[in-house]
Amino acid sequence: MTAARAAQDRRLLRRAVALTSLFLAYVVTARMGLTFDALGGIATTVWPPTGIALAAVVLGGIRLWPAIAAAAFVANAMSGIPLWGCLAIAVGNTLEAVVAAVLLRRAGFDRRLQRFGDILLLILVAATGSTTISAGVGLAVARLAGLSAAARPAGFFAVWWIGDALGDLLVAPLILAFADNPRPSHRPLRWLEMAALAVATTLSAIVVFGNEPSWDVLRSLGRGTYLLAPALIWAAVRFEQRGVTTTLMLVCAIGAVSARHDTGTAAGQSLHDRLLFMQAYAAVTAASMLMLAAALSERRAAIRARDEFISIASHELKTPLTALNLRLGEALRTARRLPRSEADPLPDKLVHATAAAQVSADHLGDLVEDLLDVSRLTAGHLSLRIETVDVGGLLTDLVARMRDQATQAGSTVDVSCPAAISASWDRARVEQVLTNLLSNAIKYGMGRPIRLSARRVGERVRVSVADEGLGIPRADQARIFRAFERLATVQRIGGLGLGLYIGQQIATAHGGWLSVDSEPGRGSTFILELPRVKE
Ligand code: ADP
Repeated sequence: MTAARAAQDRRLLRRAVALTSLFLAYVVTARMGLTFDALGGIATTVWPPTGIALAAVVLGGIRLWPAIAAAAFVANAMSGIPLWGCLAIAVGNTLEAVVAAVLLRRAGFDRRLQRFGDILLLILVAATGSTTISAGVGLAVARLAGLSAAARPAGFFAVWWIGDALGDLLVAPLILAFADNPRPSHRPLRWLEMAALAVATTLSAIVVFGNEPSWDVLRSLGRGTYLLAPALIWAAVRFEQRGVTTTLMLVCAIGAVSARHDTGTAAGQSLHDRLLFMQAYAAVTAASMLMLAAALSERRAAIRARDEFISIASHELKTPLTALNLRLGEALRTARRLPRSEADPLPDKLVHATAAAQVSADHLGDLVEDLLDVSRLTAGHLSLRIETVDVGGLLTDLVARMRDQATQAGSTVDVSCPAAISASWDRARVEQVLTNLLSNAIKYGMGRPIRLSARRVGERVRVSVADEGLGIPRADQARIFRAFERLATVQRIGGLGLGLYIGQQIATAHGGWLSVDSEPGRGSTFILELPRVKE
């Protein structure tokens, strides 16, 4: 009973804290906004409270509405508006937040802002849509109260509306981005990059919004707002929603101060026009950068999902595949022991079919191993088991194992390893790289001769696999070493596009490299160069 009472007290206390903080944040930022050349003392282009209210109801639920209503009432009452007007404006401002929150929730809005669709909802439902309620009520009050500022209704409405819209586009995303998204990593280099971004943003904003610079080049750069684009895109690409919203806030703060002091791109115009210019720029930029950050988040999420799927699928496939291989081995041994006679061809047929099934299962096993390697590499878990390797022996074994495959494709394989070379490598891994290179030479070698050779180059060993087949255009030679990259010319030949990627990672793990020299139509030479002894 007491525990339940204590929990209820805690809930009440939390609610009271939330309501009070929302009330205070709303009133303070509203009063601050009204100091920016407010039309009739009530309509301003700088109106953060709309964003604070929206973020509050999205995060804490619409039950927080009383704080919004009370704060809007108090902030306007302090501007000397008749009380009935303050009451109406308070209703308009509260409805603005509540209607936006309800519609957003119904539309499936995700407050982490990591999907392009969520940004569209924020722009259309909140910034463009629900803000018309508050601007409409504000205009009606101003007209009924006979404020001269409302003599031009469209202008009055636009100022109110843009102030509110910007709150939804700038302040709400800032709060939402910091409230929910996972904590970013705090590696020292990340901090350094953040500091560099802050410096770059501040300097660009000063050139654009500060006093006219004395250098010609800077003067031309400061004539538009485009100088700010690189910093904002940098923020979106590297620091996502948090980066974009903070960087924009910094730009807007510098822009708002400059509008007050009549400096920067819009200098010389009236304070009203300068503020309107600044806010319109901020609204359009916020919408664009939030879309960019969301699109990038979606891309990262898709890559993460792919990697997770590969990891789960390859682990899940591995177990039944191992069992299948064991069973096929048993079946083959049993089939070979069956009594044979001229009259009964069934045992031979069985041996043949089981052996063919085993070859397919082995191939499937290799593909699954490649996928497993990719997930190991993504997770950074590639470990080497170093042992002494006789390089000549390794090549001879390899060719013996793949001779049938080469013969079937019509290729001969010539091996040369003039001197005995012993190296300290992970034998299985190096064998894996060379198997893939030889298998590619067979697949893409058009039945022409293949040469495999190894020689020492100082303290390193260079192994090359050369074919005279399809070849690879120079423009594609870098990308084939990336995961899942294949050339259009080989689409009909099977493969996952992982062998060279894994091969390069294994070479790097040994302290070496894997490269290609090729000309279309004349063949390719892949070179694996590794230190003889891994340091
Ligand atoms: P896979 O062979 O499974 O597609 P790899 O990563 O081993 O994957 O190779 C990537 C791509 O590089 C191949 O799809 C092919 O387009 C190209 N490639 C690799 N080796 C050769 C070669 N010897 N000759 C021509 N193209 C090659």
